[in-house]
Amino acid sequence: MNQNIQRLIDKALSETPLSKDDVVTLLSVPDYSEEAFAMRSAAAHGMRSRTNNAAAIFGQIGFEMHPCSANCQFCSFAADYTCLSGVKLTDEEIVAATRNFTGRGDLYGLYLMMMADYRIDEFLEKVALVKANVTGPTKIISNVGDSSVEDFRRMKEAGVDAVYHCWRLGEGEVTPFSAEERKQTMRNAKEAGLDIMDAVEPIGPEHTNEELAEHILFSIELGSIQSGCMKRTPVPGTPFADRGTITDFRLSHIVAVQALANIAARNIPILGIHEYTPMGYISGANMITAETGVNPRDTAEETSQSRGLDIPTCREFMRQCGFTKLMLGDDTLIDL
Ligand code: SF4
Repeated sequence: MNQNIQRLIDKALSETPLSKDDVVTLLSVPDYSEEAFAMRSAAAHGMRSRTNNAAAIFGQIGFEMHPCSANCQFCSFAADYTCLSGVKLTDEEIVAATRNFTGRGDLYGLYLMMMADYRIDEFLEKVALVKANVTGPTKIISNVGDSSVEDFRRMKEAGVDAVYHCWRLGEGEVTPFSAEERKQTMRNAKEAGLDIMDAVEPIGPEHTNEELAEHILFSIELGSIQSGCMKRTPVPGTPFADRGTITDFRLSHIVAVQALANIAARNIPILGIHEYTPMGYISGANMITAETGVNPRDTAEETSQSRGLDIPTCREFMRQCGFTKLMLGDDTLIDL
């Protein structure tokens, strides 16, 4: 065992913040090395011992999709690459999805997704519809485009608890958005009093350990209450369809480092992993997402009939991964 890696693992577990160099060092060892396996073990035990071995289930409702002029090169909604013509859930479908997701009282948070060019008044109408039909202490989370402090304040008044937003890898190169405008949106949400949720995404084989470290540490700096890692899905028809993917095994190493860096900073967010895989959940991840409606990693109009998971499947998957409790949106725990 490399003594420097052991020292960094011990540093993280003693809750001493890691530097960017520390995070890069942890990401740089081979994924199959003794050191990487030690990180996975320390990360999983560190997270589970701090969260009572609890998992969290999230749901996502994609309200609408239309071909998007932003043309992010990895996205199944991008106007230049999409095979979808446009979809919009009816109010009845939104009510049914809300009741279906939250009716058993076991959902931590519900992401409500609209497009980058969403209309705030329409979004708030949909939020009201969801709020009127939600059961239990589920957090309501917006997942929309770049927004102002004022619009986030309106969301908060309407009952939104948190904002999912990302400074994505390759921002400004494979997307038309600048890193600064993405980061500013996250700061705007925080200023409006909303919790931040994010992820290091979409990770491809070309991303360096330095880039991954910067994104992991930015999320920690913001104090995100939910983060995670997502590998890039090679959506057919997009420029990334044939440019390769990282393995689930590599992703489990990255999420282990992310968990250790968060433990080191005494920030214990719920950590997701896309695509969900048991090796991610024995490396520090503890969250899974059920999805309905449209999904930017999917070419099906209704993702629940394709890539999306339903709640009972999520629950059983996490039970098989050894979790014994579920966290709810008010931070209470129930048996899994
Ligand atoms: S990632 Fe978002 S902004 Fe970019 S093309 Fe897809 S829907 Fe549009």
